[in-house]
Amino acid sequence: MQYITILGATGSIGVSTLDVLARHPEQYSVYALSAHSRVAELAAQCLQFRPQRAVVGTADAALELTRLLRGQGVDTQVEYGVEALCAIASAPQVTGVMAAIVGAAGLAPTLAAARAGKKVLLANKEALVMSGQLFIDAVHDNGAVLLPIDSEHNAIFQCMPHAHAHGRAPGAAGVAKIVLTASGGPFLTRDVETLDTVTPDQACKHPTWAMGRKISVDSATMMNKGLEVIEAHWLFGAPAEQIEVLIHPQSVIHSMVSYIDGSVLAQLGNPDMRTPIAHALAYPQRINSGVAQLDLAQVATLQFERPDFRRFPCLALAFDALRAGGTAPALLNAANEVAVQAFLDEQIGFRQIDRVIAHVIETVPHGAASSIEAVMEQDRLARAAAHAYIAHRLAA
Ligand code: NAD
Ligand code: MG
Repeated sequence: MQYITILGATGSIGVSTLDVLARHPEQYSVYALSAHSRVAELAAQCLQFRPQRAVVGTADAALELTRLLRGQGVDTQVEYGVEALCAIASAPQVTGVMAAIVGAAGLAPTLAAARAGKKVLLANKEALVMSGQLFIDAVHDNGAVLLPIDSEHNAIFQCMPHAHAHGRAPGAAGVAKIVLTASGGPFLTRDVETLDTVTPDQACKHPTWAMGRKISVDSATMMNKGLEVIEAHWLFGAPAEQIEVLIHPQSVIHSMVSYIDGSVLAQLGNPDMRTPIAHALAYPQRINSGVAQLDLAQVATLQFERPDFRRFPCLALAFDALRAGGTAPALLNAANEVAVQAFLDEQIGFRQIDRVIAHVIETVPHGAASSIEAVMEQDRLARAAAHAYIAHRLAA
């Protein structure tokens, strides 16, 4: 039996993970679940899956969850706060941790899982983008297993038979290029001049994937692909020059690896996150995920085009941050989180997202990513600079 903790159980990835687990009760048991504020949803999940522990964001939310659970006769132990998240990620009974909190908030518990030598199923790409080598070292030094959930990275992992999951990247042995595919999001063909008038709901209406709001906006700006380029660098040991982004609107090929002998390996499937989730949960075995088999005759056409960096300046900013190294990706990530939230709150327009990020990267000096504390300090400075810039723009 495997005992699974899900960090971010009420989110899009969390719900898909529970869907897969529910199909295999003889193999998986839910040890703990977490949610930030959606207490009623978490209570319903606890009623169905009966975890030993549940963690929420605040003391008030913990009281509310306890009241809901006891009313239903569920004895799950309720806790709150970051230390409790780290505790459910590293408890001795846990075998696997699904890291599916969105943003920098997921770094501490995801790192705790790596330090405790767990099997870490990584959806929370922001954690790896921020901490890079420090995270990879924690995986390696503690015998953890790191399996990518992001569909592109899971695809690359499947196309690299020599890739291993213990933190040391396989390097470029025989690999010419890693090709990350991207749908291009909802604004791939929209007139660039009209992009500043798009609403949060339009930006979150993704053509092929149903996801949380932050990653949906990231897909519309293509910052999501930029974060994934940095994620691929750390997971597979590839330099920026070896990573290519290719727009593929159907989202059927989830990514490819191009080898020096001319072979190209690709992983295909219907766009449904339960496939990479099931792959990582059962690795190296295969289990049913509930996803329908791909019908290529039905899909009929697969299209590809190169990304236009003027339409998607966030993608260029991410490549620049990867080349700059050190804490530059942490600055990029923090500025992006603040800018996306401001856009979702209708404080800034869509085209201001990249301007906020560019401003932060130009004005906050980046340094060496020598410790998690150094990374967190840069995260804090970048957030402060982004908030100040947005406030200044709003006042003007
Ligand atoms: P979501 O917004 O649907 O869910 C986020 C989860 O994180 C929720 O359970 C929420 O309660 C929790 N959370 C939010 N803020 C928190 C905080 N401050 N402290 C603790 N918990 C907090 O997001 P999602 O779409 O499920 O994405 C989760 C992660 O997976 C992101 O890093 C995203 O980039 C990545 N990812 C998602 C998809 C997808 O298809 N949704 C695909 C690839 C990667
Ligand atoms: Mg992805």
